[in-house]
Amino acid sequence: MTEPSRAVPPPFAAAVPALKLRYLQGYPAELLAPVQGLLADKKLHALLLRRYPERHTVRSDKALVDYVGELKAQFMKSAPPLAKVAFDSRLQIVHQALGTHTTVSRVQGSQLKAKRELRVASLFKDAPARFLRMIVVHELAHLREREHGKAFYALCQHMEADYHQLEFDTRLWLTALDLEGPAAP
Ligand SMILES: [Zn+2]
Repeated sequence: MTEPSRAVPPPFAAAVPALKLRYLQGYPAELLAPVQGLLADKKLHALLLRRYPERHTVRSDKALVDYVGELKAQFMKSAPPLAKVAFDSRLQIVHQALGTHTTVSRVQGSQLKAKRELRVASLFKDAPARFLRMIVVHELAHLREREHGKAFYALCQHMEADYHQLEFDTRLWLTALDLEGPAAP
């Protein structure tokens, strides 16, 4: 009996623990298998940038306010107004990376006023244009639907027909940023 060759690379699961695929939890293994190969070769980030070459110029809070305002006027006119729209560099961890939608309650005089805020993780300043759009569509949909249910995703698809593909690819991009770092030029 000969020992298996040491030169054989370990299976991907050993190289990149499933734990590290935190943005992709819940997606079926057969969808993730090719992704794991690309990550192992550090080719996922570059591939995504080739697939989504269009960049955006939304780099400041002011620009984000305008960008969100246009989409809201187009699709969500009757939804409650947003008290604040901003990039937030503290949004890093998994469930926050897709942005946050919070209702901040403040006491004003004798009244408790609820204010809607929409924050987008600062790393989206450098995201492909369509990933920023996906994130903003997601957060705008939360103005009507709190939970990620059927009605929520129907609203997302109403605003962006490619929503599901874009959410998956945005998660891939977050994973690539996490595990590969910036794409090689
Ligand atoms: Zn959400």
